[in-house]
Amino acid sequence: MTPDLIRDALRQVRYPGFSRDIVSFGLVKEVKCEPGMITVRIEVQTRDPKVPEQIFRDCHAILDVLPDAGTVKVDIEVKDAPAAAGLAGTVGKSSIPGVKRIIAVASGKGGVGKSTIAANLAVALAATGAKVGLCDCDLYGPSMAQMFGVNERPMANDQDEIIPLEAYGIQLMSMGFLLEDRSPVIVRGPMATRYTQQFLRQVAWQDLDYLVLDLPPGTGDIQLTIVQTVSVDGVVIVTTPQEVALIDARKAVSMFAKVNVPILGLIENMAWFECDAGKRYYLFGEAGGVREAEILNVPLLGRIPIDIATRERGDSGKPIALLPPEQSKVSAAFHDLADRLRALDS
Ligand code: ADP
Repeated sequence: MTPDLIRDALRQVRYPGFSRDIVSFGLVKEVKCEPGMITVRIEVQTRDPKVPEQIFRDCHAILDVLPDAGTVKVDIEVKDAPAAAGLAGTVGKSSIPGVKRIIAVASGKGGVGKSTIAANLAVALAATGAKVGLCDCDLYGPSMAQMFGVNERPMANDQDEIIPLEAYGIQLMSMGFLLEDRSPVIVRGPMATRYTQQFLRQVAWQDLDYLVLDLPPGTGDIQLTIVQTVSVDGVVIVTTPQEVALIDARKAVSMFAKVNVPILGLIENMAWFECDAGKRYYLFGEAGGVREAEILNVPLLGRIPIDIATRERGDSGKPIALLPPEQSKVSAAFHDLADRLRALDS
């Protein structure tokens, strides 16, 4: 008997209500194998007491009958799921002058559509009548210049603060506006962190109800620095339904929970592609984000399909959410998202 064999055996234990097993969900934290004794340590994040009970029974059913199992000990630690937080109660905590609320948009992994979601969320929030700013904090791959069709160099005011550019009534700032050209930035490590901090503190935002922060992808130092430099009211995590993205989204959820940034919820982007005949193709797997939100016990804030117009409009500086919701289902989904986030405020 070896820990690997035991792990393999545990792949037969499904997470209650799902087709996936507890090993691939990453719930099995430790497997110990001593003569005459197997110990398995499992961690689950749930508020439903039936979940650990079921897992406990299923683990025993599999492990007790293994040859030479001896005594089987299954320890299940139930962690409180990260709170499905609201924004209430945090008013005025922002450390950025001129800004009431800061909402960060994050992803564990690049390329899942985080910037597209941030841009359209900003547009849809502005359509509710709020004053909105959007700050692209991605030093290595800034994309807002392209998504909003602006690429001037911003001016500075008398206090040496950068005056945001403006597009569609949204105040915009991107590290991309400050780069001389499009060559890759070679700033690394602590320099990058310091540069990002300085950038966040030096923008002259004007009376914003919401500042949407498009965070760099990942769960490293830069993301931590940003959420510790400014007091973020809540974070929206973007994922695709694909397993590799979900694993990283999970890391992002746990990182923000650790630093006490309220998780507003998950957004499943690229959820499907719908052809002209109305048939849906689940290119990256079906409903991965929906299941993940359930498991992590955070709200699912929206599901955005893969949509050609969304990509085209993003590339040409006219985010899809500028379209009236009745003209585009994707635009409607972004307007719903904005309404849900505004509702958290009331
Ligand atoms: P990230 O910020 O996570 O790296 P981007 O927002 O830059 O991701 O998106 C990556 C690419 O995918 C871009 O070319 C973007 O236009 C495209 N994209 C994002 N979301 C969608 C969507 N729902 N439908 C079609 N294309 C999308």
